[in-house]
Amino acid sequence: MAIIVQKFGGSSLADTAKVMAVARRVVRTVQEGHEVVVVVSAQGKTTDELIEQAHAVSPNPPKRELDMLLATGEQVSIALLAMAIDALGQRVISLTGAQGGIMTDTQHTKARIRLVDGMRIRTELAKGQVVIVAGFQGMTSTNDITTLGRGGSDTTAVAVAAALGASACEIFTDVDGVYSADPRLVPDARKLEQVDYGEMLELASLGAMILQPRAVEVAAIYGVPIHVRSSFSNDLGTMIREVKEVEKEISVTGVASDENCAKITLVGIPTDVSVLYNVFASLALEGVNVDMIVQAGTATPTADLTFTVTREELDTALTVIGKARGEQTWDIVCDENVAKVSIVGAGMMTNPGVAAKMFEALNEENVPVFVVSTSEIKVSCLVPRSRYQEAVRACHKKFELSSAN
Ligand code: ADP
Ligand code: ASP
Ligand code: MG
Repeated sequence: MAIIVQKFGGSSLADTAKVMAVARRVVRTVQEGHEVVVVVSAQGKTTDELIEQAHAVSPNPPKRELDMLLATGEQVSIALLAMAIDALGQRVISLTGAQGGIMTDTQHTKARIRLVDGMRIRTELAKGQVVIVAGFQGMTSTNDITTLGRGGSDTTAVAVAAALGASACEIFTDVDGVYSADPRLVPDARKLEQVDYGEMLELASLGAMILQPRAVEVAAIYGVPIHVRSSFSNDLGTMIREVKEVEKEISVTGVASDENCAKITLVGIPTDVSVLYNVFASLALEGVNVDMIVQAGTATPTADLTFTVTREELDTALTVIGKARGEQTWDIVCDENVAKVSIVGAGMMTNPGVAAKMFEALNEENVPVFVVSTSEIKVSCLVPRSRYQEAVRACHKKFELSSAN
């Protein structure tokens, strides 16, 4: 019998009626003749509320304890959904991440899955039960609970699907697929029938929160096709898989935006690469991710270096850079009121003028651009946070991505 992994996000489980609806859908899938493994997130805004509670008792909660707290959100969901499925007369068992064999490294709050030991899940499936696994959490080799970073249940689902050789991995959410832009920002965005792993990885990494980037990464490595679809309808959604097209004509597939960034400028640093090495090695040692690095004024003895970090990591980054600067005299300036707007498309590398068209769209709306970065399949611009929604809409319109086109 084919195994199906079905993942339900927080908004799909937000209240009792929704939990019951998910239970009915799972039972229907069993009745259609499948073995079903369900991966769930915490209900509604539970994870945000738990983070707030942590910060109410400590300005800097120890990450191990934060994981201990955050993991409780998913544990509530697995138990409630198991009770709801049991009430429908279907045999079911809930498992925490650790019980489900999700083994991770030790990076608390952003742990990576090292291994999924599928033995327990297989044993429970063989008893004719639905198996519900808590998403977003795992366990280290020394039995400590970890979490996988925000949106991590997506990655749990894909990793479990890969480990079990499942025939499908369905991600049920509050939209009916992946769109050419966040439909909350662009109401006439177009639903995409299929998206290539590479493009989806860029869209997700650049802020399209519909999937956690690491879920897409794992799916691409193990060749797991992902079906993103609505919890509230039976319509087909978007397939994420390898899309082979000899000549891709469309140059831009989607627009993504990310408010979770902050800009740091090191003003007047010596153009001596040892300074760069020192600053970035120190940031890497603290696990701070750096993006959009631009250096200006390299023909002079000093230069200005600008880059972005996430807002959560801004304080750590500033402390680390302050230490790395030591007695040197250059300045550190930061700006949290920025956001990143990106266009993504695999056809971009062979279609000239894509960046120019993006700048044209931003220029027409008078949106200033602070930093630009490009790769073969994306162009990103850092803009004032107060203007990013206009910027997304302007780019979406300029590249004619709406459902009307
Ligand atoms: P879940 O709770 O199911 O994990 P998320 O809130 O994490 O759901 O992700 C779904 C949300 O992602 C949607 O409500 C939508 O606003 C947002 N989103 C951002 N970019 C896109 C996009 N390109 N296509 C579809 N949804 C998107
Ligand atoms: N509950 C976690 C979060 O809110 C994990 C998830 O939703 O995938 O980030
Ligand atoms: Mg999510």
